[in-house]
Amino acid sequence: MGAGTVGGWASYFARTSGAERVIVIDRGRVGDGASSRAAGMVRAQGGTPTAVALGRWSIDFYRRQADLLGTDSGFRELGYLILAATEDEERAGRERVAMQRGAGLDVRWVDPDEAVRLDPALRPSSIRGASYAATDGCIDPLRNVRAYSLAMQDTGVELREHCTFTGIETRPANSGQRVAAVLTEQGRIETERVILTGGPQLREVGAVIGVPIPAGAVRHQVAVTEPHEAFQAERRAMAFDLSGGLYWRLEDGGLLFGMSNPDETPGPARSIDWPYLDAMRRRLAHFLPVTDGLELRKVWAATIDYTPDHLPILGPAMKTDRSIIEGITVASAGGHGMMWGPAVARIAADLALEGATTVVDVSQLGLDRFDAQGHSRLKTDPIALPFPTVPQTAGGQTRR
Ligand SMILES: Cc1cc2nc3c(=O)[nH]c(=O)nc-3n(C[C@H](O)[C@H](O)[C@H](O)COP(=O)(O)OP(=O)(O)OC[C@H]3O[C@@H](n4cnc5c(N)ncnc54)[C@H](O)[C@@H]3O)c2cc1C
Repeated sequence: MGAGTVGGWASYFARTSGAERVIVIDRGRVGDGASSRAAGMVRAQGGTPTAVALGRWSIDFYRRQADLLGTDSGFRELGYLILAATEDEERAGRERVAMQRGAGLDVRWVDPDEAVRLDPALRPSSIRGASYAATDGCIDPLRNVRAYSLAMQDTGVELREHCTFTGIETRPANSGQRVAAVLTEQGRIETERVILTGGPQLREVGAVIGVPIPAGAVRHQVAVTEPHEAFQAERRAMAFDLSGGLYWRLEDGGLLFGMSNPDETPGPARSIDWPYLDAMRRRLAHFLPVTDGLELRKVWAATIDYTPDHLPILGPAMKTDRSIIEGITVASAGGHGMMWGPAVARIAADLALEGATTVVDVSQLGLDRFDAQGHSRLKTDPIALPFPTVPQTAGGQTRR
């Protein structure tokens, strides 16, 4: 369910792992959700060992795509600096590097001079240092939609566009009930296994079948500057201002940058918040003085998905009374669908087909980690956009 990057790649993995018939339904067209509107930042520099593993798996998949599929998602290795502006951020950053190295990632701490060698537009006095992984990079989100669409077609996955998910039929099973069919506006599809995705709409998708999913949705803005000689480079480190949630990378001779407003009321939002865009530009100019006064060539706003602890959701569908609907696997990349999407999709396909996966330990990643208010028992991944902390109720309303 859902033809975004998670549902798209999951259908390909399921089909190539032996599922006889795989159907993907989407209420719009393939890629219509967050997946075609993303900025494409991809990193294995996660804040937990699980996040590191999901990023490493996904980057490895992006690198192997051309051999596997004859096409790719446009992965470019640019390197990524996660900046520290304060003493506390530096201490946390150095500890993070130790954790990430323990998880097998080739990452190191760099001082401001080295950071400036990696990103010559950076104002050295704006930072105390940064963690740096040379193997992080970016994909081209539209090329990724194209890649999974071609992979689906090549492997015989059936795609049904303009086909809204309206419910399920169940039959009695050991633990209570098991899915027997998916109901759509175009009719009924008999099946024993469902992967439920939905990105920013996952909460609403779950509500259709009485499964509370505390996934959020909020406006996220991205812009690209006009070309400038400072950005005429083949390779240049991307950067993330962790405390502000602003990131940037090279794009078409200019600079792409993006950020969410953590004080914004959650819910779908596709219009541009121009005053906030100005704030983003001022923050960018603080780190990269050369961008001050640069014209913008492109600006967009789209609804991004997030989870309360910024970690993925991977596990069985669980109803309000905490009973399981067997055969339904819920999959969300928690706002990290470009950097974790392939790994999350691989895991979802493994869980749907085998009930287990070797990609990461998913025992803590299911819906049972959330209480009735949507609070997670896990520690929040500290390397994430500063999303709103206000819980969102079903239908996009905010509870204060
Ligand atoms: C502006 C922006 C920038 C981003 N930048 C990055 C980035 O740099 N790096 C990164 O890792 N992530 C980024 N993200 C997040 C990333 O795009 C998402 O995490 C990812 O695309 C989610 O993929 P998905 O397949 O779960 O959801 P989606 O791509 O949203 O797909 C879900 C699909 O479900 C369908 N659907 C919903 N409800 C129904 C229904 N009832 N019936 C049938 N179909 C339904 C929708 O039409 C949609 O096509 C960004 C997101 C945005 C918006």
